[in-house]
Amino acid sequence: MTENLRNSEEALRISNQQLQMLVQSSPLAIYTRDRNGLLTSWNPAAERLYGWTAAEVLGKPLPSVPGEQREESDELRRRLLAGETLIKFQGRRLRSDGGHIFIDASLGPLRDAAGAVIGIIAVAADITEQKRAERQQAMEHGVTRLLAEAESIEQVMPEIIRTMCESLGCAYGARRVWNEREQKIGSAEIWSEPGAEIGRFLEASREPRALPQTSGGLLRRVLTSGEPTWIADVTEDPSFRRGAEARQAGLRGAFAFPIRFGSEVLGIMEFFSRESRPPDQMLVQSTRSIGSQIGQFMARGQAEERVRHLAHFDELTGLPNRALFNQRLNHALARARRAEQPLAVLFIDLDRFKNVNDTLGHEAGDRVLKEVAQRLRGCLREVDTVSRLGGDEFVVLIETASRPADVAEVAQKILTALARPVALEGQEFHLTASIGISTCPGDSADLQGIMKNADIAMYRAKEQGKNNFQFYSAQINVHTLERVALESDLRHALERDEFVLHYQPKIDIASNRVVGVEALVRWQQSGKPLIPPMQFIPLAEESGLIVPIGEWVLRHACLQNRAWQDQGLPGLRIAVNLSARQFTHANLLQDVARVLRESRLDPAWLELEITEGMVMHDPARAVQLLRELKAMGIHLSLDDFGTGYSSLSYLKRFPLDSVKIDRSFIQDLPRDGDDAGITQAIIAMAHSLRLAVVAEGVETAEQLDFLRSNGCDEMQGYHFSRPLPEDQLRCMLLDIRAAGVLAAKSA
Ligand code: C2E
Ligand code: MG
Ligand code: MG
Repeated sequence: MTENLRNSEEALRISNQQLQMLVQSSPLAIYTRDRNGLLTSWNPAAERLYGWTAAEVLGKPLPSVPGEQREESDELRRRLLAGETLIKFQGRRLRSDGGHIFIDASLGPLRDAAGAVIGIIAVAADITEQKRAERQQAMEHGVTRLLAEAESIEQVMPEIIRTMCESLGCAYGARRVWNEREQKIGSAEIWSEPGAEIGRFLEASREPRALPQTSGGLLRRVLTSGEPTWIADVTEDPSFRRGAEARQAGLRGAFAFPIRFGSEVLGIMEFFSRESRPPDQMLVQSTRSIGSQIGQFMARGQAEERVRHLAHFDELTGLPNRALFNQRLNHALARARRAEQPLAVLFIDLDRFKNVNDTLGHEAGDRVLKEVAQRLRGCLREVDTVSRLGGDEFVVLIETASRPADVAEVAQKILTALARPVALEGQEFHLTASIGISTCPGDSADLQGIMKNADIAMYRAKEQGKNNFQFYSAQINVHTLERVALESDLRHALERDEFVLHYQPKIDIASNRVVGVEALVRWQQSGKPLIPPMQFIPLAEESGLIVPIGEWVLRHACLQNRAWQDQGLPGLRIAVNLSARQFTHANLLQDVARVLRESRLDPAWLELEITEGMVMHDPARAVQLLRELKAMGIHLSLDDFGTGYSSLSYLKRFPLDSVKIDRSFIQDLPRDGDDAGITQAIIAMAHSLRLAVVAEGVETAEQLDFLRSNGCDEMQGYHFSRPLPEDQLRCMLLDIRAAGVLAAKSA
């Protein structure tokens, strides 16, 4: 042996030793096989990774390849034997204890001195944990994506359960829901492996059942801890009540986690696998996050549902609100038009409901409204809609109302149902209601029209003494064929002398004296109820009849005032309302002049009320006209101020004497801050323009106090007196004269 050879043999021995050392101590599994695939070496790391010792496996085929992967493994071996130099692969492998691992392996050929391939060497690393982390992450992302695109929990849940089952290798999964009322747990959605023989287990899971308070079963544990929980083997755990069914279905490992929103548990997700599963911290983490994602989704859904509900339903009574009612009415109207299917709207207003609120308080009032809602529902068919519009106003939509008699029957049923006493604070309370009915086709064909008509009809029911129902009479409907008849009635009203005037006193606030009256027209057909002006003035206006009617009012008012004066009553200024049509009429000036002449009334005792709209229409002409009226000595007053343009500075150029603040601002004084502010501002501005200020619709002492302390000049309203017929007003004036002073209620 030469020195060189010895040296190289020595070097080889050393390098062999180093190699051995490396292989023995390597953390990577390293093993070799011969051309037939039989193992020729198996390092300690391979023993640890797969669980078999070298003694058990040497000379045998690789034991770690699962049956279904043998084919693929053989193919890799063939490729290496055929000359490929490096193959990398990842895959699932078996352990000696039956468990699964994931490996990342590099395979290469072993060659002899001549270069012929005599076997294979493999180096494998355990990537089970990494794989599992990846899979769970993918699962989490999958669920996130599903939720992001989902419309409802019911729709997305089966997909989520399937995704999770597949990622976790589970055969069955479900969302369980806790029914608080019944104190039972049931299943919402279930997914199970296709073809899995788990029928009995499914049934047992589906059927709602009570959870025992004491036992530490899977679901009870999740409910009480609010945390993910597992049972390694349900067939061995006596606290698990579906154990028998699980065994039959071949299910062993169980895992469950809560669907949470904050601290609230909204449901439970449960999963079952065929193998017994050891607890896995990573899974716990990731299901916590999934549970709260689903929880947020559900809570958001519930919040949206609530918002939707609030937008369509009345909170107090749970009835559809105005928005939903209008929607339904619109649909019904469209259908009525298409299918010529008649419908009816009943407008229901409780009589004297304010009394309940005032005497028993709002809580009692609320209870009454709920009770009313229930009774109304009870009177109607499922297809009919009852809605609360607000306050004590309800409205009913009856679809397919073929005959008026049927509708009347429903209305009567409602009156009877409401008449049953309500028990409140130990007392029996009697309610009544007034109902107005409008129908389509007939009264009106659109939503606004039909609602307005029902409302008008309801007011007529009130006028008829309440606790009754009234159909909207076409007599007072401007837009129907009967309009012609109404017009002719109105025309005849003049000939038949059917108009009457009522007079409402105006009080000077500082001196507490009656300084004037407003003449307000009413229509009294013989044997019929008195019709208020709002129900015929608009038609009179439209048809032009307002001109002769207005002239009648003016003449009558002037004659009356003159008559009072002739009777020795104190002088009063009488106010007459002018309508727009009268104002633009060419003969206004002559007419007024003639009436004053004929009645021998001093123009200083006459006041004309106009509205902003009239003067704004043609300001140049209006200025001219008002100046001439003014020149005659007549007082001019601006009615309903605040409801129109409300520009006092603009009105400066018109020769007005006073401004009447519209009663809608007075109504909520002094409580409503806005109205109080507006009223103060109007008073201040009007005074700066040297206009007197009159408040309309004063109903309470508080309103009067507010007005007095803010310098309002005059007031008019129910607080002092309603509009009165002539004889009653005369009595009042005589009383006042007898008393020497004005006995206004409010000193
Ligand atoms: P207006 O000129 O603003 O008349 C005041 C209305 O408020 C009257 O209603 C009166 O009864 C009512 N009222 C008075 N005090 C109170 C109160 O304290 N509370 C409430 N809630 N209401 C109060 P009325 O008599 O039904 O008249 C309604 C409208 O009809 C009048 O409003 C006026 O615009 C018109 N009108 C009345 N008579 C005539 C008339 O002869 N010719 C013309 N063109 N229009 C008239
Ligand atoms: Mg007026
Ligand atoms: Mg007014």
